[in-house]
Amino acid sequence: MGRLTGKVALVTGGARGIGRGIAELFAAHGAAVTAVDVLDPAAPEGPADPAPRDGTGTLEHGRLDVTDERGWAETVAGVEERHGRLDILVNNAGVGSYEAVHELAPDEWQRVLGVNQTGVYLGMRAAIPALRRSGGGSIINISSIYGAAAVPGSLAYQATKGAVRSMTRNAAVTYAPDNIRANAVLPGWIRTPMTLAQTREFNDAVIASTPLGRGAEPLDIAHGCVYLASDESSYVTGTDLVIDGGFLAR
Ligand code: NAP
Repeated sequence: MGRLTGKVALVTGGARGIGRGIAELFAAHGAAVTAVDVLDPAAPEGPADPAPRDGTGTLEHGRLDVTDERGWAETVAGVEERHGRLDILVNNAGVGSYEAVHELAPDEWQRVLGVNQTGVYLGMRAAIPALRRSGGGSIINISSIYGAAAVPGSLAYQATKGAVRSMTRNAAVTYAPDNIRANAVLPGWIRTPMTLAQTREFNDAVIASTPLGRGAEPLDIAHGCVYLASDESSYVTGTDLVIDGGFLAR
């Protein structure tokens, strides 16, 4: 029996990177997973986890731009139609942004807020009625170490990732009576298309500031998400799970 057997999950930004890792590991642990993205899924990345598969998990890919309110309604309705319920929402889709406030154009500010913050709002808004119909569930919002600590520049990114933590705590206290838990995950430097598109200097500086002296892989985040998605974390809500090699402990 997998740790997520019988659960139905929806993961945004699930075509690649951290979202892909979460979707594959959830399926490996027995969940019926729908991974949505603006992109087509990357080629299968192989077995996600050395843990034994229980054979009941499934992974299907679909399209959703998380800024699209109607798309959210259709996506959640589709999951309920195919699987009869929704138990887990992972708001993972996000975009990077690196400008300091004096050089940040209003359009870019709105673009980043649209995906990283409004996308999380729309996701929770669409999913909560379905989670209620399931008798409860788990919302996992992917924030960042930069939602807790400032580094120079990246104003919009840091603003949205801080907001995601606040929105998560708000959802936790608001929907606790519905048995809906909400937690944020704060990754440090993870090897994904997003970070590999950054300059080498930027990446080297983050890793040099990481006490463990290295970055990590999407699976390192996915393992934490399995815990938050499963009943093992049934008393955990409104918190941050920091998976950062010690970055925030400095
Ligand atoms: P990634 O490699 O860029 O993957 C994110 C996926 O989300 C991409 O396929 C991306 O498509 C998609 N996406 C972007 N905008 C979307 C939208 N409007 N609707 C649906 N999907 C959308 O990024 P990642 O590194 O895996 O990051 C995943 C999450 O972790 C993000 O929220 C990020 O902020 C957070 N995070 C990452 C790190 C890290 O070190 N990698 C650290 C802390 C937090 P496009 O390529 O077209 O944008």
